[in-house]
Amino acid sequence: MENEKVKVLIIGSGPAGYTAAIYAARAGLKPVLYTGAQPGGQLTITNDVENFPGYPDGINGPQMMMDLQKQAERFGTKVNFGLVTAVDFSGYPHKVTVDEKYVIEAESIIIATGATAKYLGIPSEQKYANQGVSACAVCDGFFYRGKDVAVVGAGDSAAEEATYLANLCPKVHLIVRRGEMRASKIMQQRVENTHNIEIHWNSETDEILGDDSGVTGVRLYNNVSKEKKVISVSGFFLAIGHKPNTDIFAGKLDMDESGYVLVKPGTTKTNVEGVFAVGDVADKVYRQAITAAGTGCMGALDAEKFLVSKEVSV
Ligand code: NDP
Repeated sequence: MENEKVKVLIIGSGPAGYTAAIYAARAGLKPVLYTGAQPGGQLTITNDVENFPGYPDGINGPQMMMDLQKQAERFGTKVNFGLVTAVDFSGYPHKVTVDEKYVIEAESIIIATGATAKYLGIPSEQKYANQGVSACAVCDGFFYRGKDVAVVGAGDSAAEEATYLANLCPKVHLIVRRGEMRASKIMQQRVENTHNIEIHWNSETDEILGDDSGVTGVRLYNNVSKEKKVISVSGFFLAIGHKPNTDIFAGKLDMDESGYVLVKPGTTKTNVEGVFAVGDVADKVYRQAITAAGTGCMGALDAEKFLVSKEVSV
């Protein structure tokens, strides 16, 4: 069987991937998009999105992703359900294997595989997902204004999320598993100087407690005193890091020490010609739907420019 040939292959179906698809399709490049195992990406596990400009009343995450898919398809994007399982950037065109079965030859590739928030791995976390448990304070914090919340983690994200939530909530409990924080000095100082953040040192989350209405508290375990205690909260925010979805690109693309794809500053260009990275897979700082969409647009424009330059040089 002959390999399928495409001009622009987009890997991933979050706001970055779909925005790249809209732009590439409108440029007449007939993009083909593979959704990955979780079509729609991280936004499909969120409730309302209230910070994406253009939706004065907010929009629910899964609906937004369906709308983006429709918009991409309207201009001719071929959206396929499938998982990219291997890539070969050693020659040109690039080769991409889908579902371990068939191979696509792509003149350009836009990687939009995103990142996955890390979870603690306790059952109550899944039980109360979207009912008080969240991995994004900027996305969901607003729903907990006026209520007490907990944040678990001790890095820059946890420090940032705790101070963000402290503006909305009367009390923020920061759950730190060691006797010190990993966060940068300035972020730690900000946490320490915020009067309504209480740090629980040497503390692990033993269980998230709740009822039919959602989260009601957290049982903490102090790994020094070996004591347990319960704190009352309505929201439980995870900030223990993200894992970029880049396993299939290991050794094939330049990445930082955490596995985020490195791009040339101000562009979406990776170290491989014709391969671009957009959205959270190349962004460990902002991680918002709107920033992902913005870089998705950049990726399509970079790919278009690359394809034009290839044609000119042939
Ligand atoms: P980090 O990997 O830096 O920190 C993760 C934190 O979570 C660590 O403190 C770790 O604890 C804790 N943790 C991990 N697993 C568990 C667990 N099972 N239970 C309890 N705690 C756990 O991730 P971040 O998302 O904070 O940051 C990622 C990168 O992004 C960093 O380089 C950071 O500097 C950067 N960043 C920068 C920002 C900025 O400049 N504004 C904002 C946000 C992130 P322990 O310390 O004990 O290992």
